[in-house]
Amino acid sequence: MKKYLLALMIGCWINPAAAGFDVIALGVNGGVEEGNLTSYLVRSDDQKLYLGLDAGSVLPGIRQALEKGNFPEVTEENAAPLTPQGAVFRNLIGGYFISHGHLDHLAGLIISSPEDTKKPIYGTADTIGTLRQHYFNGRVWPNFTDTGSGLRIGTYRLNQQRPDQRFSLGLTGLDGRIFPLSHGGTPSSMILVSRNKASFAFFGDTGPDEVERSKNLDASWRALGEEIKAKRLKGMIIETSYPDGVPDSKLFGHLTPDWLLKELAQLQQYAGGEGSLNGLTVIISHVKPSLKAGADPEKEIMAQLEKGNNLGVKFVRMQQGDRLALE
Ligand SMILES: [Zn+2]
Ligand SMILES: [Zn+2]
Repeated sequence: MKKYLLALMIGCWINPAAAGFDVIALGVNGGVEEGNLTSYLVRSDDQKLYLGLDAGSVLPGIRQALEKGNFPEVTEENAAPLTPQGAVFRNLIGGYFISHGHLDHLAGLIISSPEDTKKPIYGTADTIGTLRQHYFNGRVWPNFTDTGSGLRIGTYRLNQQRPDQRFSLGLTGLDGRIFPLSHGGTPSSMILVSRNKASFAFFGDTGPDEVERSKNLDASWRALGEEIKAKRLKGMIIETSYPDGVPDSKLFGHLTPDWLLKELAQLQQYAGGEGSLNGLTVIISHVKPSLKAGADPEKEIMAQLEKGNNLGVKFVRMQQGDRLALE
């Protein structure tokens, strides 16, 4: 607690032994029901500001995390004249990475934009182009960015990044590298964030390479394999949208437990073979809720992943508002 107060006082906390990340889940599902859509926060444990990883639901997730006590550095007193929710939203998120242009990954960012402070948004050329042309275009929503059509309000600096090139994620103190993913005809992407000797991967929606007829996931696994060999990778967030049994033709660019396990076996190859993924944290995101009576896809997915887990991976399902320290 003292550490957080001091961090607020001096604006940033310098901890030379920093070697990990704080992750907070703001939204953990894919599609169907608004209010809990894909969005996470990550920060280096020696920094104050978080990077938003997608922004399907932002303010509802911040409210949940505050209720769970997961932003201990923000109180009603030090947030004033803002609410604690407003203080986290405006002052603790230093920018956003958006993995692709689908609504369930950016609806929260758009709806909350009138109340946001100036910050950068990072993504591939495709994602940034979609934001500019189809969302912040002065028709479906005012243009809160610094480029594009209509009156430019300038809240967001759109930052388009080339794949596989390292760049700075501004005031979060993190570096990033973006890798392309194939998502049923829509370009998607993964970001590998790093600081000091630690890294963390966030995957946007993706199908398996075999179904997508792609080599994109393979390229991501090669890069993460190197991170694991160098003992840098602290974990990853990746989707599992559907339980097993959904036919490949009905995946629409998503993963099932069976496909994720197959893909992770590929990562294991690049990471040094059997045992190399032992204890690696894999956070499961983007579960699609079901409207069928009695169905519980989340429970099914986690059980199926555990059942097939001969990799020693630590599968984690974070709920909205949960916090996880990765060291
Ligand atoms: Zn999605
Ligand atoms: Zn998508």
